[in-house]
Amino acid sequence: MVSVRERLSRNRLGPPVQRRGKVGLGDVAARLEAHEQPFDEELLARVFEFSTAKHGGQKRRSGEPYVTHPIQVAYTLADLGFDATCVAAGLLHDVLEDTLATREELHAEFGEDIADLVEGVTKIGRHEYVRRDQAQAETFRKLILASIKDIRAILVKLADRWHNMATLEHLPAESRRRIARETLEIYAPIARRLGMSRVQGDLEDLAFYHLYPHQFAELQAAVGEKMKVGRRTVEEVRARLAERLEGAGIEAEINYRVKRLYSIHGKLRQRGLDLSQLYDYVAFRIITADVRDCYAALGVVHQTWRPVPGRIKDYIAMPKPNLYQSLHTTLVGEAGRPFEVQIRTREMDRIAEQGIAAHWSYKESTDGAGDPNILWLRQLVEWQKEVKDPRAFMTALKVDLYPDEVYAFTPKGDVLAFPLGATPLDFAYRIHTDLGHQCTGARVNGKLVPLKTSLANGDIVEILTVPGRHPSRDWLKFVRTTRAKSKIRHWLNTEQKRRSTEIGRRSVERALRRHKLSFKRFLELPELAPYLSREGHARIEDLFSAIGFGKVTVKQVLAKILTHEQLATEAAAPGRLRQAVEKILPFGGGAALTVRGHGDLLAYLAKCCAPVPGEEIVGYITRGRGVSVHSVACPNVQNLLYNPEREIEVDWAGKSDDLFPVVLRIDTEDRPGILAQLTEIIARLDSNILQMETDTRETRGTGRASIDVVVEVRDSRHLEKIREAVRESRGVIDVVRPMRG
Ligand code: MN
Repeated sequence: MVSVRERLSRNRLGPPVQRRGKVGLGDVAARLEAHEQPFDEELLARVFEFSTAKHGGQKRRSGEPYVTHPIQVAYTLADLGFDATCVAAGLLHDVLEDTLATREELHAEFGEDIADLVEGVTKIGRHEYVRRDQAQAETFRKLILASIKDIRAILVKLADRWHNMATLEHLPAESRRRIARETLEIYAPIARRLGMSRVQGDLEDLAFYHLYPHQFAELQAAVGEKMKVGRRTVEEVRARLAERLEGAGIEAEINYRVKRLYSIHGKLRQRGLDLSQLYDYVAFRIITADVRDCYAALGVVHQTWRPVPGRIKDYIAMPKPNLYQSLHTTLVGEAGRPFEVQIRTREMDRIAEQGIAAHWSYKESTDGAGDPNILWLRQLVEWQKEVKDPRAFMTALKVDLYPDEVYAFTPKGDVLAFPLGATPLDFAYRIHTDLGHQCTGARVNGKLVPLKTSLANGDIVEILTVPGRHPSRDWLKFVRTTRAKSKIRHWLNTEQKRRSTEIGRRSVERALRRHKLSFKRFLELPELAPYLSREGHARIEDLFSAIGFGKVTVKQVLAKILTHEQLATEAAAPGRLRQAVEKILPFGGGAALTVRGHGDLLAYLAKCCAPVPGEEIVGYITRGRGVSVHSVACPNVQNLLYNPEREIEVDWAGKSDDLFPVVLRIDTEDRPGILAQLTEIIARLDSNILQMETDTRETRGTGRASIDVVVEVRDSRHLEKIREAVRESRGVIDVVRPMRG
């Protein structure tokens, strides 16, 4: 027996979704009962009263009492078949945002589940969607899904959005467009991902209606016209289908319906067609009793009309990720016009319409071998790895669709996705390489944080930079993204190469002076070019770099290039290095120095103690990196970590205009305004703050804070002045200069 049903109610002019009438607590309870969802009548009534009382005199834009909105949302949730907790959260979904009610109050009144859920829904509303390209929309959807702990939060949000869209005409035009666009780009795709095609379709058509009213009206009218003319053809196809299926002994129900306007609109645009070329606007659906009949019906259909090759899709054997199952085929009809037929079982049809909502009313079947429901359930189990009783599972269903990602915002509202554990530095490198290289600090949600802080979902990250600052090798220990790692490595390698090339060149120059040769003469020596090519150096810099890295000594190199006479000529040998007093001249950005004396050695200020002019210093000859200059107070010096043979006496040379970075660790009382106060003091003493980091890990809860500030100073006297002023200012407990041992 074949029954025929026709659903053409959308073939009217006007808004695409019919408004539901007034509903009350009784209607909500009736829907819960209809879906056999257990609920506590007394609790539901109290929730209802609470929401009504809290929203008290509030009105919607339409002029209706505000509470009609949460009731409609609750009704939608009950009608879709969701559980009582979900429905209660629907009734309460706006009380945290729009009334004086608190989470604690909800917890005390209705328990933790409901309180958590309402809080979850409220949080979703706080993410503000700003940008409008596809990648942004995708990331934003993921942000929402990754942020929620309980999947039901998004279900309440969808029901909320559905009712807001259905009553959107009461809002001003600008808000209408913004909300409609957000619905189209964010919420409708989420509904699709959850398989809720009815909700998705409604949201899309409503958004289409508000965003592009003219195109909507034009398409709606065109489809109406087509239906007037085409109804006879459609009826003929239906009758033929019914007759053939009956003839083959297949029990089936045959539907046809006008497709969703937004989906027709999308297909026309995608294929570059105009309204006159619109044929594919009706979908036939054959609903069978079991899977075997689906395939049997497909056979019958293909014997009746010619299928379009490549358009047969078997989503029964290969369900979509949202568990949609159906057979699709496109047939060549009268006058060569194609039409689509979908074939599925009743249960598949239900899942296709309701998606995740269909689970909630799923009842365990005991005779289930081969039953597609069981197959479907198994897939769910695979998906979630936890189930015994389907209903208990569904109620507790927590979907963390993207557990390995975290989403953070730029101050402008762009959202970026990162691997879990990513830091502000990863964020900086994602935006621009130079932003990463010059990063000196970061503000997360307005607060200064250490660069190694892990970002959390929804964080707003602002990167602080100082031009000319450089990456540090330490960064490699905590950045998470490959991009940041490779950019830092690349910079360090380039820098190391540059530095060793410089050291190598200076070593060669020094040695040449001993042999009374100029650098210019050296470059012109006939033996040089053959030597370079023998050693595989493309350029002379590669040779310097090899010397700087210690791969080969200057002596070995010169032995191969200089003549015997040249080698024999030697200037008076310098005294032992350790007895020489070297003068240090800052050059090139304050961090590198030269040791001036018998030979020009490349020197740099050690990072561990960062000495400043005026302090007593000592130098060490390092392997391949020149002379490192430490404060005599540096623990590295005191612990004799270096070979005493390599010690070299050094001294500051004359005056210079260079500024030297110094770290100050300031212990303060944790009170508002302290950072501003410190900044002001330091600026008044004519210094710059290069970086400021607050570390609260050890001081949390003590009422104290530890702040590391990198300031620029001219010399030790300048530094002392700053230290004194900071130490004496209000709220400061101590100022130390940390040295890394
Ligand atoms: Mn709402």
